[in-house]
Amino acid sequence: MRKIVLSGLLLLVVLACKEKETVDPLEEQSTEVQGIVYEEYTGVEPTKPEETEVYEPVPPTVDPFGKNGAPSDAVVLFDGSSFDGWMMVNDSSEVSWILNTDGSMSVKDRTGDIMTKQHFGDVQLHIEWSSPAEVEREGQNRANSGVFLQGLYEVQVLDNNDNDTYVNGQVASIYKQHIPLAMASVPSGEWNTYDIIYRAPEFNEGGNKTRSATITVLHNGVLVQDHAEIKGTTPYIGWPKNPPHGKGPIRLQDHGDNSRVSFRNIWVRELQ
Ligand code: MG
Repeated sequence: MRKIVLSGLLLLVVLACKEKETVDPLEEQSTEVQGIVYEEYTGVEPTKPEETEVYEPVPPTVDPFGKNGAPSDAVVLFDGSSFDGWMMVNDSSEVSWILNTDGSMSVKDRTGDIMTKQHFGDVQLHIEWSSPAEVEREGQNRANSGVFLQGLYEVQVLDNNDNDTYVNGQVASIYKQHIPLAMASVPSGEWNTYDIIYRAPEFNEGGNKTRSATITVLHNGVLVQDHAEIKGTTPYIGWPKNPPHGKGPIRLQDHGDNSRVSFRNIWVRELQ
């Protein structure tokens, strides 16, 4: 008798589980869409417009053309007036690159990379760069620099105009990881823009990566990296590495001889 009761209970439990599996999939869907929790969502198709209208949270107001033409909530990293906010990577000393009179800066060969004093995690980054109209050298040695997110992950800067190289190291590549979706450079000597949306990697307490960084890049307004997964550091030789880290600087590269790359109008918006 006891066995029969137990079997009956077991059967009920199994049936209850089966019942749950056959529930309308809509009922099982998350009620969170783009961070908004639709608490009243029941899986039943709404019949009134008000049922799908929300009034919170209210997005902050941003003037898209604030100080220096940067959005009003941006951190302006370089406006052409000084190297305040930057330092040499090697020894944290004052920047020895060239401050030009036209609001830009230029790499000074063999002085080393520079980086922001402020550190960042998730950002929207705007930066403009140009390579000289007078072209010199070939391949990776023609106006090579780079924009490193968190000091570690390089978006390549290179004069690729009529200048072939390995495509995972060409302009707007994630160096040796992602070929750009297009080659969208302006003529040598003109100003390029990079608009980058970057989400930092996450690491657990043991120092292991639990989420890769992702990056989207617009080169002169053209999508060239589409939410690409950054597999780790971007070395010249070797595979990507994943040292655990927190926030990091924006770093600009001195590639050595004959970089001759200039930068201007650099700002970031820290993302939530
Ligand atoms: Mg480079």
